[in-house]
Amino acid sequence: MTADFEPTDRTTVKRLPERGRYDRETVHAVLDEALICHVAFAIDGQPFVIPTIHARDGDTLYFHGSPASRMLRRLGEGIPVCVNVTLVDGLVMARSVFHHSMNYRSVVIVGEATRLEDDDEKLNALEVIVERVAPGRSADARGPNPKELSGTLVLALPIDEASAKVRTGPPGDDEEDLDLDVWAGVVPVSLAFGRPEGDAYVKPGVAVPDYLADYRRG
Ligand SMILES: Cc1cc2nc3c(=O)[nH]c(=O)nc-3n(C[C@H](O)[C@H](O)[C@H](O)COP(=O)(O)OP(=O)(O)OC[C@H]3O[C@@H](n4cnc5c(N)ncnc54)[C@H](O)[C@@H]3O)c2cc1C
Repeated sequence: MTADFEPTDRTTVKRLPERGRYDRETVHAVLDEALICHVAFAIDGQPFVIPTIHARDGDTLYFHGSPASRMLRRLGEGIPVCVNVTLVDGLVMARSVFHHSMNYRSVVIVGEATRLEDDDEKLNALEVIVERVAPGRSADARGPNPKELSGTLVLALPIDEASAKVRTGPPGDDEEDLDLDVWAGVVPVSLAFGRPEGDAYVKPGVAVPDYLADYRRG
């Protein structure tokens, strides 16, 4: 059993609070299934929201990229950051326009990131990122060489102030609308992955790895 996150002023779900979740299992599962997150930060009072790849290891979220990235450089200075991850699970069609919705699982994390300086920590974080996207890939692909490693900025954001919000189930129509001749229900939504397409340099006899041949998440 893992302890729940403590809701704070910044992470307490106020609208439809029954949808708020603070348990690590829910928060971690959303972070792990999502391929990308959106990172929000302000520079001179101007908010920016930037999409980026993330990966979780325990209660740490990693980001990586070019040292030239403004987002990574500024976050590495320890400025406040807010991260969102959202998975859409269904289109909720109600009998009234008002009660239309979506089924979703989303997470918000607030905090401050730090820049990893130690090469071993950076290598571990990069492996976590690769493995979160394609488990098994880091055993196949060549690892970062010293030049690539020093040319990659890696940030770690502690996941200790976090919330999840989850909607599931059918539409919540008003009683008096249930008699209407209108179809209502849920259209399930899922992320579909196609058949892997090798590039022009794949050698004869090198097969698509199993972890890509039937790729799925969640
Ligand atoms: C799916 C996905 C995954 C990505 N993964 C990574 C990653 O792991 N690491 C990484 O470093 N970068 C990643 N990026 C790119 C990232 O979104 C930024 O473009 C990148 O960090 C470069 O930042 P910058 O310093 O040039 O931009 P900034 O100087 O931060 O941005 C300047 C302006 O450029 C525009 N801009 C920047 N990025 C975008 C964008 N993505 N879409 C539209 N406008 C934009 C905005 O107007 C922004 O205000 C990813 C992008 C996508 C869509």
